[in-house]
This record gives sequence, C-alpha cells and structure tokens, in this order.
Amino acid sequence: MAFSLNSYPVVYRAKGGPQGWKGGYLEKPHKTPEEEAALGAEERDALKTSRNFYDDMPLVSYTTQYGLSCFEGLKALPQRDGGLAIFRPDRNALRFARSMEGLMMPPFPADLFVTACVETVKRNAALGFCPQYNRDWEKDSFISADSVYIRPFTYTEGGIGVAIAHEPWVLVVTTPVSAYFSGGSSDAVITERIRATPKGTGWIKAASNYVISALAKHEANEAGFMECIYLDAVERKYVEEGSSCNVFFLLKSGELVTPALGDTILPGITRASIIELSRDQNVTVSERTISIDEVFAEGKECFVSGTAAGVTPISSLTYQGNKVIFNHGKTGDLSAGLRDTLKGIQYGTIPDTKGWMVKVL
Ligand SMILES: *Cc1c(COP(=O)(O)O)cnc(C)c1O
Repeated sequence: MAFSLNSYPVVYRAKGGPQGWKGGYLEKPHKTPEEEAALGAEERDALKTSRNFYDDMPLVSYTTQYGLSCFEGLKALPQRDGGLAIFRPDRNALRFARSMEGLMMPPFPADLFVTACVETVKRNAALGFCPQYNRDWEKDSFISADSVYIRPFTYTEGGIGVAIAHEPWVLVVTTPVSAYFSGGSSDAVITERIRATPKGTGWIKAASNYVISALAKHEANEAGFMECIYLDAVERKYVEEGSSCNVFFLLKSGELVTPALGDTILPGITRASIIELSRDQNVTVSERTISIDEVFAEGKECFVSGTAAGVTPISSLTYQGNKVIFNHGKTGDLSAGLRDTLKGIQYGTIPDTKGWMVKVL
C-alpha cells in the first residue's frame, strides 16, 4: 500500500464554535522539493516528520481518548492538459458536514470545505509540491498514476469526560499517493468481524469505525487476502462492504448489484459515480440486499470502489473455507470498462460531461 505519511507543507486549519469558523493556512517546515529529494534519508524523514507535529493542540482530547472524529478522503488529479483538478469535492463537503452532525459537532460549511481543499492543494503546488502528469500512465489505465490525496478531518478540544465536542478543529492535510492496492492478488475474504451495527455509526466516516477495519484487514492480509468484506450484523448473511470501500457484483443475469445504503453502509462517492456511469451504459443497476449465497451462486464479476481503491476488481471471495472465483480470476469487461471510464474522467482523458471535476490549476 503506497500510502506513506509524507505530508505536503501547507495545511488548512480552522476552529469552530458558536461564532463560526476561524483559521487559515499554516506553512509547516520545508525546503524545495528538489532540496528535500537531495537530503539524506534520515534528514528528509526528520523534516517530513516535523510537518506532522503541532505543539498548540491538546493531547488529551475526545479524539485521542474516545475516537470522536470524522474525516474525508478525496483526490486532486494531474490532468492530461497539464492542469490539476479535484474529483467531486462538493460531495465530500456534504458528507463531511453530515458526518459532523452525526457526531453532534457543529458542521463545517460545504463551501468552506471546497475552498479549503482547492486552496491547500494550490498553495502546495505553488511551492512545487505537486505530481506531474505522465503519458505513460495511460498505458496501464492509470493503475500506476500519481495524485494528491486530500485528508480533511476533525480534532476536538481538550477533555477527558465522555462527552460531545462543541469546538472542534477542522484540518486539511495533503499527501502524494500512488496505487493503493499493490498489484498481484486481489482475493477477498468474508471477515467474521462486524464493522457496523444498526443505529450505530457505520454511515458516518467516523475514525472509530476504522478500529474494526484495521483489525479485520490485518487478519485478511495475514491470511493472504488483499481485502476483507463484511456481512450484516443481524442476519450474518447479507454482504455489506469492504474495510474502506463499497462492493459491487455483476450477476450472470447482467444485473449489477451493490448493497443498498442504510445506517451500516458508508455512502461512497465512487459508489454513486459508478452507479451513474453504469446506468449511462444501459447496465441494470440495483441497490438492494444481496446474500453471500446469491453471490456464490450468481456472481460473475466483483469489484470494490472507493477514492483510494478506484475500481479494483476482485478475483475471488472466500467464505467459511469455500471460494468463488469471478470471471475465471481475470478482470471482467464491465469492471475494466468502469475502471477505465472513471480514471479517464478523473485524469482528463475522457470529457467530463457531468461537471465532476473542480479545477485547481
Ligand atoms: C470512505 C469509505 C468508502 C468509499 O467512499 P468514497 O467516497 O468512494 O471514497 C467506502 N466504505 C467506507 C467504510 C469508507 O470509509
């Protein structure tokens, strides 16, 4: 997983409260990208590490003690025409505000969110911290392509009693990323663990949800699988989603199915985009419950979707020692087509007819 904490120097930070949001852009320690590249490994690590430290924020907080926090993940992508654009930041803005409301925090305004993301990426690019478009990426459908990962998140005021936050910070940090799932195995396994329960926080992009996900994903990786897939908490038979991605199944009938949203499934923006792109291609898409038995009996292709994962084909799914292999273990046509269309729109090789891309440069 090429996802190291190698933050770019400019960070957005604002504090919320009854009077609204106050803050701005911080410039953490840095040299030019060329000078940083020329440093010895130890010196460079020390410099990058220093960018992740803040001595004016409380250590004991509802975030560090109880996991009271939510976050977003979105990308700015180098464009074939030399520009840089963010994929659907307005959607992340609305989800972030909903997540904060779900955690009973004052919501961060959507317009401020989009501005903070655009401006943070732009200010880092002005310092030279920005990947450049590379035509070679087109040869492997952008699987090896670079982008800027944008991570907005909340951090609460200091406190030790179990309580809600009234004056959280919102920070936006950025880091360069390449492929999330390293090539090779794309086998998945059904985990025994439960990610989300009815009336819980599964629909919120809450930090605390990721404790279970980190454990389940580690177990899956140790057992030789790339990803784990969750079943529902109540009946333990309906497929829900992956550790940080939504899941789709193409059935033998030609129907593309993804589990319907509810309070246990994260409403992915990639998921919504894939549904729209599939319908544009006259694929029948259903958002409904799908049992693991139906997947084993009727599954033809399978892929997971998310900002980090993009559209990642799954070649097999293992459940209680039994394994279903999709499309003879090869990437299916629908999965590949959707992956390529999405990547093409994101990197500017396919016209963005839906107005999904927001220009940074
Ligand atoms: C973020 C996330 C997704 C994917 O959402 P995108 O908006 O497509 O990136 C899916 N599942 C979970 C649990 C997530 O946290």
